[in-house]
Amino acid sequence: MTMMTIVETPVQGRRPKAGLDERSKGSDPAGEARIQRSVTEDQICILTFDRPGSQANLFDRDTLEELIRHLDEVNADPRLNGLVLISAKPAIFIAGADIKALASGATPQDVSKLIALGQSAFNRLNDLPIPTVAAIHGACVGGGYEVCLACDYRMASPDKSTKIGLPETLLGILPGWGGATRLPRLIGIPKALDIILAGKTLPAAAAKKRGMVDVLVPKEYLLEAACGKIHTAGKSLKRRKSSLSLLLMNSAPAARLAAYKARTQLMEKTRGHYPAVFKALEVVTRGIHRSMGQSLLMEREAVTALSQTPACHNLIQLFFMQEQAKKLGSKEAAHLPKVGNIAVIGAGVMGAGIAQWAASRGIHVLLRDINEEAVARGLGQASKLFRDAAKRRILTPVEARAGMDRIAPSASEVPLGNIDIVIEAAVERMDLKQKIFARLDELAGPDTILATNTSALSITEIARATKRPGQVVGVHFFNPVHRMQLVEVVRGEDTDALVVDRAVKFVQQLGKLPVVVADRPGFLVNRILMPYLIEAGNLFERGASVEDIDEAMLDFGMPMGPLRLIDEVGVDVAQHVAHTLAHAFGERLHIPAVLGNLTEAGHLGRKSGQGFYMHAKRAGKPQVAPGLNALQIQQDVANLDREALQQRMTLLIINEAARCLEESVVTTPADVDFGMVMGTGFAPFRGGPLRLADTLGLAKVVERMQHLQALGETHFEPCALLMERAREGKSFY
Ligand code: NAD
Repeated sequence: MTMMTIVETPVQGRRPKAGLDERSKGSDPAGEARIQRSVTEDQICILTFDRPGSQANLFDRDTLEELIRHLDEVNADPRLNGLVLISAKPAIFIAGADIKALASGATPQDVSKLIALGQSAFNRLNDLPIPTVAAIHGACVGGGYEVCLACDYRMASPDKSTKIGLPETLLGILPGWGGATRLPRLIGIPKALDIILAGKTLPAAAAKKRGMVDVLVPKEYLLEAACGKIHTAGKSLKRRKSSLSLLLMNSAPAARLAAYKARTQLMEKTRGHYPAVFKALEVVTRGIHRSMGQSLLMEREAVTALSQTPACHNLIQLFFMQEQAKKLGSKEAAHLPKVGNIAVIGAGVMGAGIAQWAASRGIHVLLRDINEEAVARGLGQASKLFRDAAKRRILTPVEARAGMDRIAPSASEVPLGNIDIVIEAAVERMDLKQKIFARLDELAGPDTILATNTSALSITEIARATKRPGQVVGVHFFNPVHRMQLVEVVRGEDTDALVVDRAVKFVQQLGKLPVVVADRPGFLVNRILMPYLIEAGNLFERGASVEDIDEAMLDFGMPMGPLRLIDEVGVDVAQHVAHTLAHAFGERLHIPAVLGNLTEAGHLGRKSGQGFYMHAKRAGKPQVAPGLNALQIQQDVANLDREALQQRMTLLIINEAARCLEESVVTTPADVDFGMVMGTGFAPFRGGPLRLADTLGLAKVVERMQHLQALGETHFEPCALLMERAREGKSFY
């Protein structure tokens, strides 16, 4: 057992007094201190969070207990004039609670105890008789921000790494260490709801604008400024009064109105699927009119109950999957140099999107198309994306300009010797892609990776047009590139393992989440999506209404109905991908004639203004297109209710997801589920199609499919893996 160390924290003109060390030592049962305590000449105590051997500070049980021991000793020391909380990490203040403690398996008692421990630690901080200041630099989220809320004053560095927020509802819980109680008391119910219900994390300037922090101070001066504030303001920091507008915002009638409005919006958005947001709404709007203690009790009871919901378990599993994707890659790849230069071939929708995103991450991009006009169009699109990013304060105007300057346009062939990765995003035709790759092989340097963004063509076939098939890989971005986090890294039959690793690292460098998939038609996401979209088209053709089909899947939790999605993707594009897959998988994919009929009529969806819906230029919900009934050729499913429609579509998603596992498109059920949630927005609270299958029970899934199959709907035949697992009483996880 080691003794807690008292480290001299360098504070200009306020060096800790050596003589104070002894009085502040405490024992640390975990072995190593996570918080260092020092005292300045002015009797200001500094608690520096510095978890050993880690880039991040976290609140786990040991850290909370350590904090409590420090605070008790601080409280018992009458000589102290103030307290500052700060982090020693370069880019993280405190990254929140240790989520593992909430993962499935934690009993309600475990969770309740953990919440009580955190509340008790932060209450001690709140109740100290001396002024307290949080000096925030780096990620300050969840419990990391809740500890700051228990301080009297909050300073933050305007650094890019400083991100402040309460993302708990995204994990199916709510801020239970005082966040749902203290934030509305600090900034008012409307602004607190905006943060808590959406699980927002904001840059420092935006957090300051909302009153979540009091002042911005460059990181170099944070500690000095925090001590200075205590020096000048002293105990007046403890007596900050609420403004009249805050009192009005938090009055009982205003709280009732805010609760009513937010509830209506939440119901519309979530269709009641996310219990955490409704609980958070209740705690914020009711807790404000109770004592702090009562409100904190509401928080504790709510988190305890929420932690046991399937939604919470599924959202936490997804969080872990995302963390895993960020770390994916072999040990050898960890030491590979970063990508500095890329070339993008084809400046269309995807090429321009990829070029803009890469340039915004500091990579130099050569953007190539066949003529000046096409290049100019691509540049224009990239420029618009940069402008939008600046407007939404994702980038500063200077960063946006610098990003745009990193894109070099070219309408003619140029040598590619110094390029790390070429990404081809030309039109989706095998003959054209093979021609392009044969030429790229001649132009590129010996180490250059040749990647394609193809949606469904074979990487192996494209690679064989070159003399370096080992260096050809699929890097499949989704549309729109700046919004979609998932990228499929497709391993062709000949692709070298190290090339896959380099592609994975490149995707991570871009801040995207990779999933490695085998070179099978449609890869992972489009492969699972297509049978679902095709079924939606067939159900329409057989008499179901556009509204019923789309509403059924919105009720399920999809971000958009399948027919609306076809319109967004482009009816012609959907038809093209459907044909590619039908060619590969045969009869079980029966392509509805409606896709061809709409395409022939020029009704291509959003891009042409009409498809299954009419798409007006101005924002708003598109209306179902007139005259569609003429395209229905049967009425045999016209009487199915929405639940039955939903069941058919979800069963096909589950079946195709299981097939992907069966055919080793990916290696784990988690890969399938992660791909579908991140790539299509598949109802995150359900955890993905295979998790859904487990929840329903595989025997039940098979039984329902076989029932439909027996009615003559042969495409419901369950795949071998599903049948085998159901027979053996197994699940996917
Ligand atoms: P697009 O039609 O918008 O753009 C294609 C561009 O490639 C055009 O500007 C065209 O002039 C250019 N081009 C054609 N031949 C070329 C050549 N020989 N050299 C250089 N440029 C050439 O297409 P898109 O939607 O951006 O799709 C591009 C690729 O990305 C396709 O393989 C597509 O399957 C894939 N993809 C598309 C999406 C999507 O939603 N649009 C999503 C993922 C992947």
